[in-house]
Amino acid sequence: MKRSIKCQNCGTWNVLTGEKNQRCSNCGEVLKDEMQERLNKLSEIRKEQLDKWMFTIKEDDNAFTKFFKKTGNILYLIFISIIAFISWLLAILPA
Ligand SMILES: [Zn+2]
Repeated sequence: MKRSIKCQNCGTWNVLTGEKNQRCSNCGEVLKDEMQERLNKLSEIRKEQLDKWMFTIKEDDNAFTKFFKKTGNILYLIFISIIAFISWLLAILPA
């Protein structure tokens, strides 16, 4: 499906070609694809959150930190599994 984008400068509707920094066919203004920008922002936020996640292993972490974070990740996975198991038990058990 083709999407159209309105030029913020002159108001002309342009069919999005998908190329980066597409320009308005009428005035040549760079068209801002708001949906694409939103998606970019979203993936940036996701990246940021991953950076903030304390168990994300970074290249410059020392061996101990890496070990600690790996252990943390495993413990977290076990924790999540237990929660999932308990909620599954609660779901199948007769009330
Ligand atoms: Zn324009």
